[in-house]
Amino acid sequence: MTVIRNDCYRIEEVGGKKWLVLPKGLRIRITGEIRWVGKQGRLEIFYDDLTGRWYAYQSVKVDQPRRTTSPEKRAFVDLGVINIITAWIEGEKQPIAFSGKPLLADWWYWTKKIAYYQSIAMRVNKRYTTKRIRKFYRKRQLRFRHVINTIIHRFVKLCYDKGVGEIIVGDIKGIRQNNDKNSKANAMIHNFWSFRYIIERLKTTAENFGIKVKLVKENNTSSVCPRCSSKNCYKRKRLFKCLSCRLEAHRDVVGVINIARVSLNGRDGFNGVLAHPVLLRVSPVEAQTSPQGILAL
Ligand SMILES: [Zn+2]
Repeated sequence: MTVIRNDCYRIEEVGGKKWLVLPKGLRIRITGEIRWVGKQGRLEIFYDDLTGRWYAYQSVKVDQPRRTTSPEKRAFVDLGVINIITAWIEGEKQPIAFSGKPLLADWWYWTKKIAYYQSIAMRVNKRYTTKRIRKFYRKRQLRFRHVINTIIHRFVKLCYDKGVGEIIVGDIKGIRQNNDKNSKANAMIHNFWSFRYIIERLKTTAENFGIKVKLVKENNTSSVCPRCSSKNCYKRKRLFKCLSCRLEAHRDVVGVINIARVSLNGRDGFNGVLAHPVLLRVSPVEAQTSPQGILAL
């Protein structure tokens, strides 16, 4: 990797073509969007041996007007596989959920492809990996991350628009114990790094919007009734039924309301919250075109 100081390069656009101008008259043609305009920071250039291309990352300092967020207003988040994010914002009636199903299908498609080429590599060359396989792994990861980034950006932007000052996230230890019978989901659960990535991404994105993120322990949040605290309940697929007070709700909503209950510490505010979330989907294809989609509730 080569690092270029902020005052040692410039980016020029001539007739729709972009050039990177370096010292000693070196001009290199560049492609890609220049998304931000502002005071330029340093430039990092590196070579990627999987794609055989050179890449440059530029940091830019941008002035943005700050909306005032209220530290009092919070959003509560339950992370999962079937629904990547299930959330409830204080004061709202309608919980929301970002479906992970399109993401799951895409992940599975690449996983099968990898397995297929691995079996060939093993049979033909007695090797576990090839350049092609490594490319597929990379592709699978990039596509996953791209959708996650889009989902998180939309969610954080929504929080920002609603004046949320803090996002409370149920810590992900619970995800492993949640014994979904969905084997595809389980395959992804074991890629534990994915959830670390989601949390790190959520922290960074929220920070950019001036919103704090706090992780709280997720103790039995999906197996206690949020209305009457009974543990006498029944769960099947995404449905939660309390056998004591007859509450019926979506399991992820139960999870998120229970996270809210712990944090609100007896302070009410989730009376009348709907038991089922509005489902929002971000597909891997859509994610590539609209990083700043509008979320309508
Ligand atoms: Zn109950």
